[in-house]
Amino acid sequence: MQDEPQSAAPVHHITGLIHHPYTPPAGFNAPQQGVFKASTVYFPTVADMRQREWKDKSAYTYGLHGTPTTYTLEERLCTLEGGRQCVLVPSGLAALATVALAMLQTGDELLIPDNAYGPNKALAEGELRHFGITHQFYDPMSPQDLASKISPRTRLVWLESPGSVSMEFPDLPEMVRICQAQSVLCALDNTWGAGLAFKPFDLLEDALGAGGQGSLSVDISAHALTKYPSGGGDVLMGSIITQDPALHLKIKLCHMRLGLGVAANDAEAVLRSLPSIDLRYKAHDQTARALAAWWQAQSQCAQLLHPAFEGSPGHAHWQAVCDRTPGTGLAAGLFSVMIDTRYSQAQVDAFCDNLRLFKIGYSWGGPVSLVVPYDLGSMRQSWPAHLKRGTLVRFSTGLESAHDLILDLHQSAQAHLPLA
Ligand SMILES: *Cc1c(COP(=O)(O)O)cnc(C)c1O
Repeated sequence: MQDEPQSAAPVHHITGLIHHPYTPPAGFNAPQQGVFKASTVYFPTVADMRQREWKDKSAYTYGLHGTPTTYTLEERLCTLEGGRQCVLVPSGLAALATVALAMLQTGDELLIPDNAYGPNKALAEGELRHFGITHQFYDPMSPQDLASKISPRTRLVWLESPGSVSMEFPDLPEMVRICQAQSVLCALDNTWGAGLAFKPFDLLEDALGAGGQGSLSVDISAHALTKYPSGGGDVLMGSIITQDPALHLKIKLCHMRLGLGVAANDAEAVLRSLPSIDLRYKAHDQTARALAAWWQAQSQCAQLLHPAFEGSPGHAHWQAVCDRTPGTGLAAGLFSVMIDTRYSQAQVDAFCDNLRLFKIGYSWGGPVSLVVPYDLGSMRQSWPAHLKRGTLVRFSTGLESAHDLILDLHQSAQAHLPLA
């Protein structure tokens, strides 16, 4: 360059555009906060950059470590679940994986309920096993089985209530007590409860409140925000919530080293949905119970698997944790039906294919009702004694009218699951 600029003012149009001096006035206030997007975050000076702390929410250092949008979502999720610290990850499964990677080392063992979310079991059988971390699956309906499998090598116990697909509700308080007595960390996959059906950090709603002396609490709550917090079937995200700062820091460090982040627009989508989560959860629940009651009256249904229904495996445990004031308990929008053995897999598949309102698809928590037939035999160590034989079909209720959904079930059952 020949001509030295006389001042720092940009000479070129494009530089002026990029370094535009305009800053909007402060004080903008509206129901939704802005969406803050960043990889780079500016520091006013080098000294300031060197001093910045990324491990807490005192400032900003880099997009991966947090923005106003993700900090806000983290704090609101802590409020939802009754925890103190939160880490966001790109999916529910990433939440489960991050907990495992943060807590386990070669030679450690983890215990997983046999009815757990399938990919959590696959992670143990794949990557974790390759790292020299062993696992055992325990009977979700037997605290004794869990207790008997805890050894000096056990570092982490997963809990899930109810279990994915087969919907058994475990004796959560007893299992947490067993873990505490053995000083083993317990992590709950809290996707179903979503912070609404029960309080993961205060399971028995102790009078002293969440985290108070005497409250019964899991150590970690992992949540697939993909489900109810998103509510739209259009976002993948997960959270890991804790109450203990040291535990949180371990997870936060692992999260940082793995380079996991969430997109600002996705965080904003969840922030936009959160205010309606309570209303939506109750609506999904009511519809699911109406449909479950309909199924219970059908002779094609060998067994109804819905924790709020008498006779469903673990119903009393659901009552103890979720229905502490009888008649007020919540139960999400998910249930399964064991279709009687007199119907073939092909008939059950045809029944699912010919539903008009229910779509065939994984995940749940969105506005559209979903159906998936599962091959339970291939998912479990052995066929559980508390489950009738048959073909399992899982329903996730959306926000459609329960009446219309029942008419849909009726028309397809009439056509493809004929009465004897
Ligand atoms: C969906 C789900 C997950 C995983 O969530 P993704 O965001 O789909 O990875 C984990 N646990 C449970 C119980 C789930 O239902």
